[in-house]
This record gives sequence, C-alpha cells and structure tokens, in this order.
Amino acid sequence: MDEGHSGGCQCGRVRFRVEGALGRASICHCRMCQKAFGSFFAPLVSAPAGHLSWTRGEPAWFHSSNKVRRGFCSACGTPLAYDWGGPALELSIGAFDEPERIPPTIQVGLEHRLSWFSRLAGLPTRTPEEQARADGFFADIVSRQHPDHDT
Ligand SMILES: [Zn+2]
Repeated sequence: MDEGHSGGCQCGRVRFRVEGALGRASICHCRMCQKAFGSFFAPLVSAPAGHLSWTRGEPAWFHSSNKVRRGFCSACGTPLAYDWGGPALELSIGAFDEPERIPPTIQVGLEHRLSWFSRLAGLPTRTPEEQARADGFFADIVSRQHPDHDT
C-alpha cells in the first residue's frame, strides 16, 4: 500500500512528494491566508522535515511577514507551501493529487472567518437546464492542467 503523498502545481512545473504520514491538516481563516490563496481560507497540512522532497522544480517564495514565507509556482501561481521556520513545512491540501485523503481536522484564524462561511455547503446548485448548458461548454474542453499523478 502506498503510504506516500504526491502533488504539485496546476501547470506541473513544481512537483513534490511526502513519504510516510502527514501531520495536522487544518484550514486557516486568517486574512493573510485568504489573500495568499485568493480564497476564503487556506487548507494546509504539515509535512515533517526530511519527509518532503521537491521532485520537480521548486517553489518561488514570498516573505509575507518577518516570520513566514509562502511558496508558490512562479509559472502558474498555484499556492503550494507555508513555512514558519518550524520542524515541518505546511503544504496546500488542494495541490495534492488526492486531496480526498487529507480531511482537515481543525480550523484556526477564526477572527477573520467570513460570516457566511458556514452556509457555503448549503448553497443552491445548478438547475438541470443550467447544468446541460455547462456540460455543453465543457464537452470539448482541452485541459492544460498537469494530471494528478507523476508521469
Ligand atoms: Zn505551475
């Protein structure tokens, strides 16, 4: 059984692998994480030092504060890592090939959690007619996204 976890950015220029078990999986609602991900929160999981290897390319880094730097793909912009200088690097859960295997177990940064966050899962979905139009658009799409596996 494969205990490792692989992932990478959307264009495939940067790929990583973590051997063995991952650490804590979280979502962070803080304003810096919202901005860094261009999203409502940051989903991050810790990768113990020595267990993480960049198997293709390496991220570029932005020092978002005096204590933290954030890694991203300089070609496609995918947020990839959060490094606070500790014994483990945090990796973006959504960048893993199989994010379904990494359910968050805690949420932090609650002071900036958006007021409507808890209602997201209850949002309405497309009507069958709207879905049919969307399916038409996507029927002949040609993806340039890296596949969710090492080639
Ligand atoms: Zn990329």
